[in-house]
Amino acid sequence: TRKFFVGGNHKLNGNRQSLHTLIESLNNATIPSSDIVEVVISPPSIYLETAQKAVGPRIQVAAQNCYSEAKGAFTGEIAAEMIKDIGNQWVILGHSERRKIFGESGELIAKKLKHAIEVGLGVIFCIGEQLADRELNQTDAVISSQMKDILGSVPDWSKVVVAYEPVWAIGTGKVASPQQAQDAHHFIREWLASNVSKEVATNTRIIYGGSVSASNCNDLAKEADVDGFLVGGASLIANDFITIISSAK
Ligand code: 13P
Repeated sequence: TRKFFVGGNHKLNGNRQSLHTLIESLNNATIPSSDIVEVVISPPSIYLETAQKAVGPRIQVAAQNCYSEAKGAFTGEIAAEMIKDIGNQWVILGHSERRKIFGESGELIAKKLKHAIEVGLGVIFCIGEQLADRELNQTDAVISSQMKDILGSVPDWSKVVVAYEPVWAIGTGKVASPQQAQDAHHFIREWLASNVSKEVATNTRIIYGGSVSASNCNDLAKEADVDGFLVGGASLIANDFITIISSAK
């Protein structure tokens, strides 16, 4: 029932040339049909419009961040309205790099999420524990707290994809084991069942991110509660990203 979802988060990488080459490869690739897998790429904001114009019908485009307000004196920010205006359908919010490097609070992320959904964007909402949290057995507590941040701020849960990205697995080559991913995803689904509804728990895609590669994607995808991936480094390499897309079940 839940359609597999694969996102490519380019972070602060690439240029016009590399992006066009990547999109060309994705447009021409043989991948499972749109009934099987939803595919989204997320280049830096300066390239969102050029990406939107270049992608074929199988690929959607996501911004990596946006602000919580429609307009005003917020130098350097972009609005959900602008993302929508250029035809993008998604935004990534709450990424651990936004939380850690740029100091975004759960409260700010919740405001952004509410506004983005009201504007009509889908939101890839990222959560995940740090290594110290896991070592202190605080993984479930951190996940609960990050989910609770947005609980009162979701106008439509069908517009949310939850990305579980353990911080210790991001960009480290230290991927979560399939069992670790499954345990966290199962916990998130149970949290949704208890705090939102059984229906939302059943229908919400929960995707995994953190050192996903062409060689580990198939084992992770086998897990019952793994509904897709949010891919960083490997999403910049067309063949690897295509392999990951093709792990859809
Ligand atoms: P890597 O796949 O490079 O570990 O990054 C994961 C990530 O942060 C995706 O948002």
